[in-house]
Amino acid sequence: MNISSASPFGTPELSVIVPVFNEADNLEALVARLVPVLERVAASHEILFVDDGSSDNSMVKLRALHALDHRCRAVSFSRNFGKEIAIAAGLDHARGQAVVIIDADLQHPPEVIETFVARWREGYKNVYGTRIDRNADSPLRRMLTRRFYALFETFGETGLPNGAGDFRLLDRQAVEALKSMGERARFSKGLYAWIGFKSIGVPFEVAERHAGTTKFSYGKLTRFALDGLMSFSTLPLKIWTYIGLGVSVFSLAMAVYYVLQTIFHGIDVPGYASLIVSITFFAGVQMLSLGILGEYIGRIFAEVKRRPLYLVAERLEDEASVAPTDPTRPVARAPV
Ligand code: UDP
Ligand code: MG
Repeated sequence: MNISSASPFGTPELSVIVPVFNEADNLEALVARLVPVLERVAASHEILFVDDGSSDNSMVKLRALHALDHRCRAVSFSRNFGKEIAIAAGLDHARGQAVVIIDADLQHPPEVIETFVARWREGYKNVYGTRIDRNADSPLRRMLTRRFYALFETFGETGLPNGAGDFRLLDRQAVEALKSMGERARFSKGLYAWIGFKSIGVPFEVAERHAGTTKFSYGKLTRFALDGLMSFSTLPLKIWTYIGLGVSVFSLAMAVYYVLQTIFHGIDVPGYASLIVSITFFAGVQMLSLGILGEYIGRIFAEVKRRPLYLVAERLEDEASVAPTDPTRPVARAPV
């Protein structure tokens, strides 16, 4: 073991952030595969687990890992806040010159970090893993994911690199940029692309989950997709101006047509069918546009409440290595 890298003092060269939500059966295997890689590629490292309110014994495992090796640190949330927020907390607490984000389930092969670090040393500040395929996901999820990216491509105001996810390395400069973004509805994939910096993709093969099942239900994924689209596009809001304009022009033309018809052919039999169809159609259009307004207003409401992004219930770290507490950010990210 590299003694200098075991030092709890000073800042490590490389931090690895691992969001953890009920991953007790994966943690030891992950550390066993991570540590040799990290010792090979970095002068010193830390592995920072963010326990996202797990209800299994993930924390018991993390305490044991921390006792064995103090380079394993952990921050534990008071409840489940979601992976995006777990990553934000990881970025807040990581101290390394570069930060790697990796899933706990070994779907992201730790060995790829070696290439990430090589690219970082070449000067890249945003090194992202790109999935070669999505065969580890279910066919339905793959289809929906494709749809989402096509939608994002059309509506999103920020381009997303193909196949890029959370598995990546970020230079300290990029980490600070991400930390300065105080939004609550966090769509990390968009944020990583938005910050820019010298970026490069590293292809990798997604492995099968080591143990357990995916923590993302279709409901959660839908919420996530909506967050992504709404925080990176205002087109759904603006589009109603054009739809409204189109509908107005159309109804004006209809009015002219009916007036002329009445003048030249007299009053016709009242058109019940066309009336009821247009009433229900336009009621639907209005509901939809109100619903979209509501989605944005809901998000504005969430932002203006300025609640902390997350609450920490427990930390596993060496007292000596804890940076002096900033009074404005005692346990949670302060509103920006
Ligand atoms: N995760 C989390 N909070 C959640 C859901 C997931 O921290 O609410 C973590 C999970 O423990 C894992 C990573 O995010 O380390 C990816 O989750 P998962 O493997 O379930 O997602 P998938 O691979 O199916 O996209
Ligand atoms: Mg997974």
